[in-house]
Amino acid sequence: MAPMTWNTLSMTSPWESITRTFSKKKSEIGVNYCMQTLISATEFIWDLFQQSTPEDRKSVHNITLTIEDMKGEAYTNTSNNEIHVSAGYILSYPAADVEGQRNEMNGMIYHQSTHVWQWDGNGKAPRGLVEGIAYYLRMKSRFIPSQWAQPGVGDRWDQGYDVTARFLEYLESLRNGFLTELNKKMRLGYSDDYFVQLQGKSVGQLWTEYKLRYAKR
Ligand SMILES: [Zn+2]
Repeated sequence: MAPMTWNTLSMTSPWESITRTFSKKKSEIGVNYCMQTLISATEFIWDLFQQSTPEDRKSVHNITLTIEDMKGEAYTNTSNNEIHVSAGYILSYPAADVEGQRNEMNGMIYHQSTHVWQWDGNGKAPRGLVEGIAYYLRMKSRFIPSQWAQPGVGDRWDQGYDVTARFLEYLESLRNGFLTELNKKMRLGYSDDYFVQLQGKSVGQLWTEYKLRYAKR
């Protein structure tokens, strides 16, 4: 197997200004900082997904992280493993809020790196579940903003993002290792029946019980 290489590219001018702001505070969040976070995120994801050998993982030899001027917050192109993060979005946090900016940058990298490594049922898994898993990994990294949904919030199990992440957290509490096993099952395909196989109940039933549990509080 070819050795893994890491690239961090395209530091555009808004990002350089944020780097200067931080270096004044002796708080590095430039190229090296982002590259280290990318490596930490990947190791965290391999560990949680129990992908300890190359055979367990997607065949990825290179991840490119680009911080740039762009619309939106961040996205990952999973066909070439390019992660893009908006410099303007990170800069929307006040310059004085160094911890807030680092927290958001780290969280973005954990979320987007999950898209690089997670299985998506060969493209057949619901988008909301794929995003929910990425949010779940970010939740476990603890780099999350305070405004994220609390447990029990949401209308559908596959609503995605923080709503589905909280539901997955609940399912993990019912069965330790649930998320790892679900991701493994999603390597070649996808079926809602995976929830029955792992939890003994349909995903609809599990969602109903989840909502009832938090409605009582
Ligand atoms: Zn995502």
